[in-house]
Amino acid sequence: MNRLAARVSSLTPSVTLAVAAKAKALKMKGVDVCSLSTGEPDFDTPLVIKQAAKAALDRGETKYGPVSGQPLLRELIAQKHARDNGLAYAAEHVLVTNGGKQALYNLTMALINPGDEVLIPAPYWLSYPEMVSLAGGVSVFLPTTEATDFKITADQLEQAITSRTRLLVLNSPSNPTGMIYTRAELAALAEVLVRRDLLVVSDEIYEKLIYDDVRHYSIGSLGDEIFARTILCSGFSKAYAMTGWRLGYLAGPLDIIKAASAIQSHSTSNVAAYSQAGAIAALQDPTVPGEVERMVKVFAERRLVMYEGLLKIPGIRCARAQGAFYLFADIQASGLDSGTFCERLLDEVQVAAVPGLAFGSDTHIRLSYATDTLTITRGLERLEQFMKSCLTVRT
Ligand code: PLP
Repeated sequence: MNRLAARVSSLTPSVTLAVAAKAKALKMKGVDVCSLSTGEPDFDTPLVIKQAAKAALDRGETKYGPVSGQPLLRELIAQKHARDNGLAYAAEHVLVTNGGKQALYNLTMALINPGDEVLIPAPYWLSYPEMVSLAGGVSVFLPTTEATDFKITADQLEQAITSRTRLLVLNSPSNPTGMIYTRAELAALAEVLVRRDLLVVSDEIYEKLIYDDVRHYSIGSLGDEIFARTILCSGFSKAYAMTGWRLGYLAGPLDIIKAASAIQSHSTSNVAAYSQAGAIAALQDPTVPGEVERMVKVFAERRLVMYEGLLKIPGIRCARAQGAFYLFADIQASGLDSGTFCERLLDEVQVAAVPGLAFGSDTHIRLSYATDTLTITRGLERLEQFMKSCLTVRT
């Protein structure tokens, strides 16, 4: 007898977390692994943020709190988006969640009926389609390639819309490709979304991790009509090196935020009070923007080391990503699918990378530069050695 509910039958556990766990286990055994698979900053959380959380514990902030988050934190998040992103949210439009993941999970549960179609540009962050299936929805993938900088066009969006389409999931800067939509590209997508009366979930969690003087735009800032159809998803994990604190949020129309909050009230309730105190410090303390800038500068340097190193490896092709901390490298010349490639890469030369298949492209691997430069350069040397062996077998 199958004891499990039907909804979990096709669920795939997170591949990124699995690769990271395997690399960690090998390291624990003393194996010299170059881990280029991490999805989190290797920096520690800025000290003032940690001190704020400690002070909250000392003050006795150890009880239940409001489900939607501390009023001050909701207010600060609303102010941040008004100031930086041109989004006129008030505190009541914000729901504080246990990481960006729970923000998206609450949202899919609040918006999707069985059979509803959700448009997801591919390559995509691997949790989107899994969440859509858990809600009984159907993911409709919009394929993209390096040729279009891994971005969808307004025409592509228009053609994918059916009578069952509910929403588009947009992720800029993107995990895994690192690409960023320009203002004009977002405006073209917004025009279609408004005309066809669709919602858009805008996952902007990598907003602060951008390079080459590009600018980040929020699609919701491009007019009142698109603002009314946008639900912003973001969090503190990536920009403030706070992945373990579990701090994310949604901001959007009141009815949707209230529904997502009601779902949270029956699952996790509020985010831990001391974590929220840390988030308040992240947004209030005047030293934090400088700390973020310092981390971004280091990521920018590492990105160039990795990008330029990859270009020198025969058989590897790679787009110059401008955001997040990933490069999505084309490994087709190896003749291997992405799963076999990553498995052998780890077994034979001890480099951990994530198979592109997990993100919807079996001809790529995701490499993270959220690690020190030495690990990156050593990892690339080994990758080159491995690639050479694949090319030799093929010739
Ligand atoms: N969205 C994207 C695109 C991500 O890459 C991640 C984490 O990897 C998340 C959301 C969720 O972040 P967290 O739950 O750690 O805040």
